[in-house]
Amino acid sequence: MNIYGITREKLENYFIEIGEKKFKALQIYEWLYDKRVTSFFEMTNIKKELQSKLAEDFSFDMISIQKKQQDKLTSKYLFKLSDNNFVEAVLMEHDYGLSVCVSSEVGCNMGCTFCESGRLKKIRNLEAYEMVEQILLIEQDIKKRISSVVIMGIGEPLDNYDNVLDFIKIINDPKGITIGARHITLSTCGLIPKIKELMNETLQINLAISLHASNNELRNKLMPINKTYNMCQLIDTIKEYIAKTNRRVTIEYVMLNSVNDSESCALELATLLKGMNVYVNLIPYNETNHLEYKKSDSKTIMKFYDTLKKKGINVTIRKEFGSKIDAACGQLRSKEVELWKVFI
Ligand code: SAH
Repeated sequence: MNIYGITREKLENYFIEIGEKKFKALQIYEWLYDKRVTSFFEMTNIKKELQSKLAEDFSFDMISIQKKQQDKLTSKYLFKLSDNNFVEAVLMEHDYGLSVCVSSEVGCNMGCTFCESGRLKKIRNLEAYEMVEQILLIEQDIKKRISSVVIMGIGEPLDNYDNVLDFIKIINDPKGITIGARHITLSTCGLIPKIKELMNETLQINLAISLHASNNELRNKLMPINKTYNMCQLIDTIKEYIAKTNRRVTIEYVMLNSVNDSESCALELATLLKGMNVYVNLIPYNETNHLEYKKSDSKTIMKFYDTLKKKGINVTIRKEFGSKIDAACGQLRSKEVELWKVFI
């Protein structure tokens, strides 16, 4: 097992199982995430025999940075995994700090028709350590600490539930990477059973739902997942989530020219969300070469925004990051896939 993929609780259980005190887990975490050592033999408060035992049971294998592309406030990292698969993460500089958008799977099976990342079908889940290491390697590269994490890169995080949850626990741990739960956002296309599971975890993270449509018919066309879990069920689940967790939920709505950006869509969306503790994040669509969708013009986006506002819905327009380096939402990985196909 990779040491960066184990939660503190699981590490405590490991120590108990081998007849050691569980506080050793805390000591290991301090070495890993505070002092950032990369070998058990540097952990001087751990006795020699135990260091050797740990070295037998856990590895420090790292994914590696294959390539980095930079635009003013955005850097995109291409990571190579040990089985020669690739995923990407994006670092963004905001006025309030540094955030990283991590990938959760190699490829994605959700098949949203407007999303470039999903053109590559899912090859496998990412292990928790492969998500943790995306952050560790970026922090090491820029010599600064990350303040927030969004799980919005390649993949559907709730389709890799257990590993994503371990990842969240590790980065959120006050002795781990110490990213506050309120600075962690998980974005999903709406896997209802998993949203229900998530609401019972008592995590204070932010949940974002990729809604992207104002009615079932439209959503069916954009997001195949809607045929399994339809919008009415999804809205009910979001209401349940809000009631249970007392947390405001983000509704993501990508603005596609002449598809879902009309005045009537805005009104329909406002009716749907009326009275719910949500805020809508309008996402200017990032066009890609392979897909026909076009972005809504800024006037249309502003009008949609105004209509929602007038109807009393909280709404913001997402700041665009990284479209020049194909690092924006939905653009990750496709170019690289093509590039790497040439070599593999
Ligand atoms: N599978 C998860 C997280 C990954 S996608 C989810 O569906 O939420 C992150 C967000 O980017 C989603 O809201 C997704 O719908 C959106 N997105 C996908 N392609 C996009 C594009 N080309 N332009 C803008 N947003 C896009």
